[in-house]
Amino acid sequence: MSGGDLQMSQTPLNLLGMPRHDLEAFFVGLGEKPYRASQVMKWIYHSGVADIDAMTDISKTLRRRLQDTAEVRAPGFVPLRRAADGVVKWLAYTDRGQAVETVLIPDGGRRNTLCISSQVGCVLDCSFCATGKQGFNGNLDRAEIVGQVWQAAQHLAATGDTRGITNVVFMGMGEPLFNFDAVVDAVDVLMDHLAFGISKRRVTVSTAGVVPRIYDLAARTDVSLAVSLHAPRDELRNELVPINRKYPIAELLAACRHYLGRIGPRRTITIEYTLIEGVNDSADDARDLARVLRGLRCKVNLIPFNPFPNDARGYRRPSADHVLRFQSHLLDAGFAAMVRTTRGDDIDAACGQLTGRFLDRTRRRGRYAASSSATRNERIPAVHRLADDEVAA
Ligand code: SAH
Repeated sequence: MSGGDLQMSQTPLNLLGMPRHDLEAFFVGLGEKPYRASQVMKWIYHSGVADIDAMTDISKTLRRRLQDTAEVRAPGFVPLRRAADGVVKWLAYTDRGQAVETVLIPDGGRRNTLCISSQVGCVLDCSFCATGKQGFNGNLDRAEIVGQVWQAAQHLAATGDTRGITNVVFMGMGEPLFNFDAVVDAVDVLMDHLAFGISKRRVTVSTAGVVPRIYDLAARTDVSLAVSLHAPRDELRNELVPINRKYPIAELLAACRHYLGRIGPRRTITIEYTLIEGVNDSADDARDLARVLRGLRCKVNLIPFNPFPNDARGYRRPSADHVLRFQSHLLDAGFAAMVRTTRGDDIDAACGQLTGRFLDRTRRRGRYAASSSATRNERIPAVHRLADDEVAA
């Protein structure tokens, strides 16, 4: 799309989440120098400025032209709840009146990991995941993906936390590789030093195993990759992660090896394995897992199952002893295996608990939004609304 086309279009172009090369092309299309992109990106990401008129190192004339064609617009972002352990959850609202969840996980003063969503709901329907139970309600665009990080970074800045967001994981709602273009654009922006400047080792795309898109990802970027394996044998994985029927374990691991070739010998892939009592947590499962992963440069992240309401299967989390036993099988076989501690448990912010429990309200809100002139905050049910200072850790 040329700058001329952009000028003609009715809807303003959202500059939030736009990768640098696209933004440069946009300015060139306006007859401007490409470095304008750097100026604008610094305003947006380093200074947290969304108002084009406040971008004072850009001439008034150009600012006015920009205001006619473009905008910087993040999704509505409502602080939801803060857990006892400092984890904060937000709802990010799309223009379509849908809500996704974003979770900030501060970690011992060193890291601020943000878990972001890439889709509203999910098509995958993994048997143990709450998100899948709400069905699929659409992709987020790149502004809605990057906007989650932008808003959380501003929250941290407002609370005096100077580290900012140090790590981003695409482990919220949705399958990132089913929203490929928007996710790759967002990843570019997260890693760009003119935006968040997060290292490729600290931005992780997590996939249930969309094999062709893993090859595409390798062709486009070298972000860190996590693969949700959850079972060492196809017949079991078919049950837990239905996409396995299309892309079985052997094909998935071949794609992982290809990706490892892309990211180089000093980096690893993360294999995620949710442990469910009596389903995939036996000594045989651990042994089979060690066998299928042999020779793959990976670390294994064991996630004790997080229960969620209305889980028709009645899955349970294995005892701590059992989890440790599973882990020690892998350690004995020479794998780096970690047990992921559950954070934000008391506010349903843990892995796989991000749900559409707000979906009904969201739908109502969507209808209400269409017919109401109330401000965004007024439309959020009060019971879920927190003032910013209430969520400050
Ligand atoms: N669709 C992507 C990313 C979202 S899920 C993927 O499948 O990787 C992020 C991680 O949380 C995945 O490993 C997922 O399998 C895991 N998970 C989902 N539900 C869970 C639950 N109830 N308990 C523990 N882990 C869960």
